[in-house]
Amino acid sequence: MDRFNSNKLKQLREANRITQKQLGDLLGISDRAVSKWESELSKPSGKNLVSLAKIFNVTVESFFENSSIIKTKKENTIAGMESLTELYKIGRGPSSSHTIGPEKACLIFKSRNKDADRFKAILYGSLAKTGKGHCTDEVIRKTFSPYECEVEFNYIYDDIPHPNTMELISYKKNIEQDRIRVFSIGGGSIAFENDVYETPERIYKLDKFTSIASYCEEKNIRLWQYAVENEDEEFSDYMHKIWNAMKTAIKSGLVDTGELPGGLGIQKKAKSLFNNQHVDESPVTKENRIVCSYAFAVGEQNASGEKIVTAPTCGAAGIVPAVLYYQQQKNNFSDESIVRSLMTAGIIGNLIKTNASISGAECGCQAEVGSACAMAAAALGELFELSIDKIEYAAEIAIEHHLGLTCDPICGLVQIPCIERNAVAAMRAINAVNLASFLWNTRKISLDKVIQTMKETGYDMHKSYKETSEAGLAKIHI
Ligand code: SF4
Repeated sequence: MDRFNSNKLKQLREANRITQKQLGDLLGISDRAVSKWESELSKPSGKNLVSLAKIFNVTVESFFENSSIIKTKKENTIAGMESLTELYKIGRGPSSSHTIGPEKACLIFKSRNKDADRFKAILYGSLAKTGKGHCTDEVIRKTFSPYECEVEFNYIYDDIPHPNTMELISYKKNIEQDRIRVFSIGGGSIAFENDVYETPERIYKLDKFTSIASYCEEKNIRLWQYAVENEDEEFSDYMHKIWNAMKTAIKSGLVDTGELPGGLGIQKKAKSLFNNQHVDESPVTKENRIVCSYAFAVGEQNASGEKIVTAPTCGAAGIVPAVLYYQQQKNNFSDESIVRSLMTAGIIGNLIKTNASISGAECGCQAEVGSACAMAAAALGELFELSIDKIEYAAEIAIEHHLGLTCDPICGLVQIPCIERNAVAAMRAINAVNLASFLWNTRKISLDKVIQTMKETGYDMHKSYKETSEAGLAKIHI
């Protein structure tokens, strides 16, 4: 790889107002190590590079000058937000970099090798080390199906250009036809070796809730209309596909039974939750049970390597669909209304992604489940046609009461506490909307402030509580 760009790191750190000490704490290293990188006395390891890229929302390659591996054509500017199509993605769970990215790569490779009768995938780096727990091999095999695909985990070879590297090979009558190296570069995005990778453009000019709300007020439009104004003409169709994929995940999850993969011995529970009524069930208990069953359905599909929508991540994929599907079943809302509410939810998710984080590895579960809860609350507020103030309050309540939530999945599997946590957060989103409807004019904290607080809390959180499975519930042996 080419020369590490120490200036770039310094610029990003200063632009994000993070001290060397804070950056060191985030990475679990000393501030001296950060100082050495910035003075070109040493350079970060591959693992730290990936963490840096996540922290600053840039690609790993952007830290290198004249990178020949993946050329970044257009750098993100600091201001603005990316398209909502970069937030909502359809793919196989349970992880955007370990399953959605590889799935996308395999689909492209399969379609350009239509004559092949057999495939092979070799996983390197993090894809090899944690791929089993994340079902990377299963997803690859399912994607190449009905063709046979051998998946090899290469734990030894580490001279790789990216920590999430894979090699795909196609054969016909046992003769190799095609071979390509591909990198899963985060958030479900991929880059093929020697291809030009374009960092997604920031198509939204505004990136604070306060400024978006003022703009909407001035133009007398709703938040979903602000999204439509900024996206392209295919956006509405894309969002309908997203909603259809969410519904499919719920429906599939409600009929699925058996054990989740990974060895924890967890039985799928969505079906029984949906069908088993309480002896003397009140309407409130019933609502709770049904909403939770929808969240479990998506969470279990995600944990099984089935198709879900990142909302905003795989681990938190059940919250938004559970809340919206319940409303559609109960009150007959049209698909069009639901899609509009998803757009509003997307604006909230995008604000959090841009100004804080939606990654458990970066800021703990508050960034995943907390963000999803805020999105669901905003979506519900849109569905009920609440004012923008009330929607803001609902989203703010939803994040506020997740502040400090750690990411500590047992055995690194997105199962305990993740699936149950989706169900609890779905109910919390409904509660947040109820509170906001009554108390909105007593609000003291803005959504922008709570997003900033979530980021600071996440950065202060010890790294063992951020998707490392080293602390908290992850220490319990099952
Ligand atoms: S505990 Fe971690 S892996 Fe599970 S949903 Fe939360 S952030 Fe995602």
